Amino acid sequence: MEVRLLEATEDPERTICTAARNDYMAEFVGDCSFEEVMESIDGDTIDEKQETLIGHLLDHGHFGPFEHAQATFAVKGISRSCMAQITRHRHVSFDVQSMRYVSFDDVDPEAVREGELVVTPPSASDPDWVGRNQKTGQVDEDAVERRQAVFDDAVANAVESYQELLELGMPPEDARFVLPIGTEVNMVMSMNARMLMHVADMRAAADAQWEIRQMTEAILDLAADWCPKTFAYYEEHMKNRKNRLAP
Ligand SMILES: Cc1cc2nc3c(=O)[nH]c(=O)nc-3n(C[C@H](O)[C@H](O)[C@H](O)COP(=O)(O)OP(=O)(O)OC[C@H]3O[C@@H](n4cnc5c(N)ncnc54)[C@H](O)[C@@H]3O)c2cc1C
Repeated sequence: MEVRLLEATEDPERTICTAARNDYMAEFVGDCSFEEVMESIDGDTIDEKQETLIGHLLDHGHFGPFEHAQATFAVKGISRSCMAQITRHRHVSFDVQSMRYVSFDDVDPEAVREGELVVTPPSASDPDWVGRNQKTGQVDEDAVERRQAVFDDAVANAVESYQELLELGMPPEDARFVLPIGTEVNMVMSMNARMLMHVADMRAAADAQWEIRQMTEAILDLAADWCPKTFAYYEEHMKNRKNRLAP
């Protein structure tokens, strides 16, 4: 999996602060410099003032201003399962690589056995991995080795069948039905900073599945560079809190 920041609001925290200050100013923010907009906020420097205001907004649940800062991420090589989870978030915009137009006719099924094209969950090879609703059984080395072999055979066979169906003239949009839910997909998604915090609340949490958690942590790392004061506050005061519903 790879996650990159493609595009984002330039100086997002200036935009967030200006939007928030608009609510409490008699003057029109469009006519004011940023220094004037931030004049009444505590802090010696404009940076400190932004920190004060952003902390205050997040602390008081005034989340609307965070909707004005938007970021677009490109995600490479997540499973269709992970894609189904993240696309449940209705205020995120998506473009998902199409299996109707992209056929995997040149992928070597042996390479699939080595982990290409289909995401291999850590539990296929890690004896200590514990996932949700796992049937507890004896996890000895032989069982784990067997798990990996069963998994690799199943995905390689599925890809072989898919390619055979293409050769037999089946359209990719129908042949894809035999491909596993772990099949890799690339995706572009855009969301605002408020929604990013909401996605992180739900998907970076301990009860989320390892793959979407990994993707969300990568997004949070990028967000920390893009919108630093907001996501530093989020990390310190908000992440992993209880009763997260909709920041
Ligand atoms: C650990 C975990 C397990 C899950 N298991 C399942 C499962 O087994 N089956 C399943 O179907 N889903 C499952 N989900 C998905 C989950 O139920 C949500 O559909 C998904 O996370 C989208 O989040 P959201 O509801 O906050 O909505 P989002 O689309 O992210 O919307 C953000 C917020 O906007 C508000 N909102 C948006 N639309 C509406 C609306 N129509 N009405 C009222 N308020 C709205 C809500 O406050 C919402 O929280 C799971 C999620 C997690 C994190």
